[in-house]
Amino acid sequence: MEPLHPLTRRLREVHDELHGEAGGELRSSIPALQEVDPDRFGLALCTADGHLHEAGDVTDRFTIQSVVKPFVYALALTDSGFDAVHDSVGVEPTGEAFNALVLEDVTGRPPNPMVNAGAILTGCLVAGDDATTRKQRIRDGVSAFAGRSLDDDERVSESEKGAGERNRALAWLMKAEGSLPYDVEDALDVYVFACSLEVDARDLAVMGATLSAGGWNPVTGEQVVPPTVNRTVLSVMATCGMYDGAGRWFVDVGLPAKSGVAGGIVAVQPGQLGIGAWSPRLDEHGNSVRAARACALLSERLGMHELRPE
Ligand code: GLN
Repeated sequence: MEPLHPLTRRLREVHDELHGEAGGELRSSIPALQEVDPDRFGLALCTADGHLHEAGDVTDRFTIQSVVKPFVYALALTDSGFDAVHDSVGVEPTGEAFNALVLEDVTGRPPNPMVNAGAILTGCLVAGDDATTRKQRIRDGVSAFAGRSLDDDERVSESEKGAGERNRALAWLMKAEGSLPYDVEDALDVYVFACSLEVDARDLAVMGATLSAGGWNPVTGEQVVPPTVNRTVLSVMATCGMYDGAGRWFVDVGLPAKSGVAGGIVAVQPGQLGIGAWSPRLDEHGNSVRAARACALLSERLGMHELRPE
């Protein structure tokens, strides 16, 4: 038998170690997300030159949810430019939950593109004349990051629409503040669609690897977004990606990352690799317990958060 690649070995080791980790709960407000086996656990890593390593349930599909936010932000920056996007949405961490009813005091803008309010807005700033063309742009753009054509899960988006009072409140609050000069229902429709794109742990790893390689997908060879856009996205992921857990996360793990309530996390070591991790049980911040632990262990064991790498 061929010896395992050292990175594959590491992944499997971490996956095995976390097998018994049953912390967290299925706690999303989206009813359809409760219908999943909470013990599923996929872990993948893709290097900045496109080599993929896997452990566990890496082909299970789940909805991307908030992991889509940095990618929608990247598309908005690419399509509308830095000035237009940053006039509309800030880049400051909130220290609050992802769905907090909080806007910037003076401007009424969403504080950053990683919380729901910000992502509802950036979804309006991707190219397209109406909700249908903007959804198509998001599907195509996120697919280019993943290196394959992604489907959306209508069951989950319908379920979210039926339970979307908070996001609707956020959108109307922005409307009242004058910071969402778009049709509210269209903005929510595009946002919920983006969250319902279906991925697996491997897709998240390739998407992370694309961010690690300056916006260049190492599997397909496509430059998906310009390097300047990519750099900005990584910075905002580092400061805001893990919501009110962002500070603690960066101290412990040291990697720009983004989580979603279906249990996915993408983490990036710039210049080196992307990690895609998924398991459904969430902590109180809405981050997957196992996926977060897996990123932390990999960061430690692969020396990704060292002052002086060996
Ligand atoms: N679609 C989810 C929501 O708006 C995304 C939240 C998340 O993944 N943190 O509640």
